[in-house]
Amino acid sequence: MRSASAPRSKLPDVGTTIFTVIGQLASEHDALNLSQGAPNFAPDPALVEGVARAMRNGHNQYAPMAGIGALREALADKTERLYGARYDPQTEVTVIASASEGLYAAISALVHHGDEVIYFEPSFDSYAPIVRMQGATPVAIKLAAPDFRVDWDAVAAAITPRTRMIIVNTPHNPTATVFSAHDIEQLARLTRQTDIVILSDEVYEHIVFDGVRHESMARHRELAERSVIVSSFGKSFHVTGWRVGYCFAPAALMDEIRKIHQFMVFSADTPMQFAFVEHLAQADSYLGLSAFYQAKRDLLARELAGSRFELLPSEGSFFMLARFRHFSDERDSDFVLRLIRDARVATIPLSAFYTDGTDPGVIRLSFSKDDATLIEGARRLSNI
Ligand code: GLN
Repeated sequence: MRSASAPRSKLPDVGTTIFTVIGQLASEHDALNLSQGAPNFAPDPALVEGVARAMRNGHNQYAPMAGIGALREALADKTERLYGARYDPQTEVTVIASASEGLYAAISALVHHGDEVIYFEPSFDSYAPIVRMQGATPVAIKLAAPDFRVDWDAVAAAITPRTRMIIVNTPHNPTATVFSAHDIEQLARLTRQTDIVILSDEVYEHIVFDGVRHESMARHRELAERSVIVSSFGKSFHVTGWRVGYCFAPAALMDEIRKIHQFMVFSADTPMQFAFVEHLAQADSYLGLSAFYQAKRDLLARELAGSRFELLPSEGSFFMLARFRHFSDERDSDFVLRLIRDARVATIPLSAFYTDGTDPGVIRLSFSKDDATLIEGARRLSNI
């Protein structure tokens, strides 16, 4: 339909997200999809049954704004057991309608016009646009190939009196690195005696490999006191389409976040919340996830061993980076298009995660796929 007026865009330089664009191309070319971080296998049938039962039992109306009480209790217990911090379910835990919603609510609640927000690139694509929507300035610090570690001297140099927030993400999408004890020490040192808030995206908290532990902000009292932790059920229970997540923060921060959350969505989906209460009672439902995905990581790496790609280490998340620059000078987006058309396998170009188009000649592969898909995807990538 013709529009009566041309709106003035708030994000004139932003197009449709890379996940949607590549997903559409993949289906047009009937390509195997190793692009989006979304499982192609089913969740536990008991979880699905739990949702159906909740619906049959009449749990079909609004949940309480902050989430159903039993779920907030279960989440507070899980976090205390795993990471040590005790959050008050009444005032410091909120069930959100996806981690994406939680990120939006937290940034818009806490970042003001004129503030600066430090984050690391390559990064998940929503952080910087959300910051800009507040009239604030996103300050990107590059994670440099090939190891993509944080340069804490660069962070120190970027902090100004206007710095309101630092966004961290461990395990990291798209580079699959995880924070070490050193990273935690540096983050604590640089934020001590400031009023900087840390927004910690921990959606891959249960997917960390090789026996390494997840450095949640909730493990470190000093950091927990200035952190908003956003996580999600989607990655941990193979239900990325259910759009239910959770957020922890000290009460003073959470008060402000709930003011935004209540007007964005009011509450998250009710039947899912009931099902997650039951499911969280079985800790093995998420504690086995690291081993599950580590086997997939290793399968993909084995199957790609004879290919021309140089695989970068994957320490956590369900992503792996693969370098192609030594055998092709193509822009990564052109290379990815060629892979979709000729090899019929879809991946994500790393440049999509940089605002300035940095292109180290690397693609991101998702191994949140059944083994047959991983084997066939690797076979196709090996023909390149
Ligand atoms: N987090 C997932 C990824 O990085 C998907 C995000 C999305 O589709 N919006 O692939």
